[in-house]
Amino acid sequence: MALEVESGKEFRRNPAAAFVFIGLDPNPQFPQETVAREDIGFITADGMFRASVRGVFAAGDLREGSTKQLGSAVGDGMAALLAVRWYLQEPHHLAENP
Ligand SMILES: Cc1cc2nc3c(=O)[nH]c(=O)nc-3n(C[C@H](O)[C@H](O)[C@H](O)COP(=O)(O)OP(=O)(O)OC[C@H]3O[C@@H](n4cnc5c(N)ncnc54)[C@H](O)[C@@H]3O)c2cc1C
Repeated sequence: MALEVESGKEFRRNPAAAFVFIGLDPNPQFPQETVAREDIGFITADGMFRASVRGVFAAGDLREGSTKQLGSAVGDGMAALLAVRWYLQEPHHLAENP
């Protein structure tokens, strides 16, 4: 028995196998709503993984446009980490946010 989410319609199938496609929805409570998101809720970020709020970075599945694949998420995390390091090395943000 299967349920079509959009219509609520139930129907029967007899597949040899099934791939359960779950877990793709972003968590809207993290981080807070002040960070810009696209329609579904994925966080928008530039090429340096910077979100709309200064000092906030988005990497992995939560980032708009990411492939939602493990290998990409790991790469995103590494690249974002370097971006965070560069950000922390900037002297001016210390003066702005003592
Ligand atoms: C069913 C399923 C099958 C998949 N199969 C494949 C596959 O075959 N191959 C493949 O490449 N990819 C697959 N993926 C995708 C892969 O799992 C993701 O791309 C990857 O896990 C993304 O990593 P991430 O760190 O960005 O996010 P996540 O792995 O989702 O990690 C986010 C973490 O943040 C935590 N978190 C959430 N809210 C908060 C909060 N408020 N405070 C603190 N922590 C919080 C969560 O608990 C979670 O641990 C699959 C995903 C699913 C759901």
